[in-house]
Amino acid sequence: MSPLNLTTPRIKNILICNKTIADIPMSKPSINTFCNKFECEICGKIYKRHSGLANHKITIKDANVMKSTAYDLPEKAIEKTCRILVYHIKERLKQSSKHAGSVRIMISCTESQFFGVFKGYIHNYYPKTGNYKCIFKGINSYSTLSKVLGDDNWGVKYFLQHQKTFVLSYQQPSNPNDPDPLLELNLCQEPDPLQEQNQVKIYKAKKCRICKPKPIQIIIGWKRKEKSDVRNIVYSSGFIFINFTISRMRDIENLY
Ligand SMILES: [Zn+2]
Repeated sequence: MSPLNLTTPRIKNILICNKTIADIPMSKPSINTFCNKFECEICGKIYKRHSGLANHKITIKDANVMKSTAYDLPEKAIEKTCRILVYHIKERLKQSSKHAGSVRIMISCTESQFFGVFKGYIHNYYPKTGNYKCIFKGINSYSTLSKVLGDDNWGVKYFLQHQKTFVLSYQQPSNPNDPDPLLELNLCQEPDPLQEQNQVKIYKAKKCRICKPKPIQIIIGWKRKEKSDVRNIVYSSGFIFINFTISRMRDIENLY
């Protein structure tokens, strides 16, 4: 496990009208006037000022500093935790399509185990609850998690008949120039005022859903669950949760 590199918080390629923050000289205070957009590409938060994004980066850096509630674990213990996580992820990858789609797994895990595995990749820390959140998305998210978990096959399982089931980590954005099938459908039909009105409503509703697809990302976090009985006797445990999407395909590479 590579040690945490606090000098390079994991906000890469922050786009400001196709420029990165590093591209723009800090001495020019007029940056905001030509674009007015500072975005964290990991969580998608948009700030009006550069200082907003800079503060966001500081909170990410702080989130990756070990808290007093956690402690250092030996490398071997962290590796074992990675094996446990990979086991539970792979157990959800089944051959049948009925198991595809969004899933959430929860595994009992201490804060120190979570921190040992994901330090340097934590995006949010919530001081009130002591919970953490990591966001993995984009074209490199699978390989990043391969590095974190120390296993290239952490999110894929192969089956007979060249089938493979895998954790969906990235999807090419659809081409905005492609014809919209919903519009084409409307053009083929005879105009009927009532039907047209209804179709516009349906179209608007569908268009809304099309415009905002659920982002393909893997969310990994840690939270403490606390419960109590009628005598107010409290018991608690820490859990790691992993939200991801399962997909299936034919493994074309190994067909021939
Ligand atoms: Zn962010």
